[in-house]
Amino acid sequence: EIADLDAFGGAAAEHVRDRLAASVDERAEPADVDPLVDWPAIRELYPDLREVARRLRRTVLESRPIRMRHHADGDGMCASVPVQLALERFIDDIHADAEAKRHLLKRLPSKAPYYEMEDATRDLNFSLEDQARHGQKLPLLLMLDNGSTEEDTPAHETISHYDIPILVVDHHHPDPEAVDPLVDHHVNPYLYGEDYRVTTGMMCVELARMIAPGMGDELDHVPAIAGISDRSKAEVMSDYLQLAREAGYEEAFLHDVSEALDYEAFWLRYDAGRDLVNDVLNVGGDPERQRELVPWLAARAERDVERQLDAAEPHVEHETVSSGAQLYRIDVENYAHRFTYPAPGKTTGEIHDRKVEEAGEPVITIGYGPDFAVLRSDGVRMDIPNMVAELNEAFPGAGVSGGGHLVVGSIRFVSGMRETILDALVEKMADAEIDEELHSSLTR
Ligand code: MN
Repeated sequence: EIADLDAFGGAAAEHVRDRLAASVDERAEPADVDPLVDWPAIRELYPDLREVARRLRRTVLESRPIRMRHHADGDGMCASVPVQLALERFIDDIHADAEAKRHLLKRLPSKAPYYEMEDATRDLNFSLEDQARHGQKLPLLLMLDNGSTEEDTPAHETISHYDIPILVVDHHHPDPEAVDPLVDHHVNPYLYGEDYRVTTGMMCVELARMIAPGMGDELDHVPAIAGISDRSKAEVMSDYLQLAREAGYEEAFLHDVSEALDYEAFWLRYDAGRDLVNDVLNVGGDPERQRELVPWLAARAERDVERQLDAAEPHVEHETVSSGAQLYRIDVENYAHRFTYPAPGKTTGEIHDRKVEEAGEPVITIGYGPDFAVLRSDGVRMDIPNMVAELNEAFPGAGVSGGGHLVVGSIRFVSGMRETILDALVEKMADAEIDEELHSSLTR
């Protein structure tokens, strides 16, 4: 259709390039919003979150795809679903093609609370295929409720061999020395002397409001659900619950949404389940459907937990260790239903919660299988990442790895060393100091 074409050169080209760059800068500027609740912890993180919002808007303006990876739990979904909705709206604003959002944005759940090699390799492989086959740009990778720990670094490194920028918004105990050289932006409350109480969902609701202006009150219930899911002990939880109440959500219903999200995440496995999850959370979903779906899903989840605990509880072994803490052990491989909800991590967590309720703190619970152990503790000063390092030093042939938060996490080892490692683990836990202030935050 073009009969004649002249290329700009020299100063004219420079001028056009500058104007384009200036207008992209202008349009990448995030929406000017204030935090939903007045909380210094969130205020401190605001400039960091604005930087991530700016980068994401710019990525959309440049027609570069975004791959969003998130922990497949309640908080991870409260983080990723609002950001997904905001990015879809912004993509619709910018791109005339109604299908653009399908090519430019993918939300992908990760089973582990860190970026696994399997996921990273798949992400890289799909990105390179999309580039080769459809001429797409290599994506930007957005890690939510995932990405901050030393365990994430092999995956980050895999990705970093290619031109794929990585942005991280997470609240797992971070290892900035290992992670920061590999990622473009790393937002984590621990980097500001805060902790996991600031959940990823709380941060990402603010991020979503910065990405798409005019979100209104449609996300007002989400931070409370995120906090409930990750057992946030923040004082500001009462403000978030109040905000949710004003949006028509009673606290009991928020708990049900949290359970329903967890239940759906289990059955969806590697599928994002976009429309289903949008309905359950009622973010870009159908509010009436949510009212029908959530109580049903929550009841199913509760029934399945009961069934699991009926089988497991008679097999829980108990001892009082030298520090005075109550220690409970359960073999989740042999005394729990397998391949069904709840998985070993949550099964251990549910047993732990019951024991805390029965016995009061301090309580330590270990759920173990042939080559793994899930650890939960309340009121005990533990440092799981450090324990892993010590076990590795003491037992070079046990292949101990893992970590997580300080007082809750999971470790892996080779199955032939199970008895040795479990005994050593119990000994270390028995020595751990009692501290009423320390609580299990995350269950999985
Ligand atoms: Mn979380």
